[in-house]
Amino acid sequence: MTESDTTHRQTCSFCKGKGRVAEDGFDGDDTNCPVCQGEGTVLVDNNAVPHQICDGSGKIKMRGPFGKHVAVCPDCRGTGWIV
Ligand SMILES: [Zn+2]
Ligand SMILES: [Zn+2]
Repeated sequence: MTESDTTHRQTCSFCKGKGRVAEDGFDGDDTNCPVCQGEGTVLVDNNAVPHQICDGSGKIKMRGPFGKHVAVCPDCRGTGWIV
């Protein structure tokens, strides 16, 4: 993805710019970040504001049969920003 007049780059909230996350979505370096594909930054619309539901983290906490894990916030697609 390339920048345009209506977007700018922000540090990826999901991996905090590391580009890597743990398999369960928590902090770690098991796998490439599913949000930024390992780049550490995401393209954000210039009009976007921090997403309140996930508190700008891009993450929603889930509780499943194998314990807690973190999923990509579906509304802001894990960027933590929403228009
Ligand atoms: Zn990321
Ligand atoms: Zn969100």
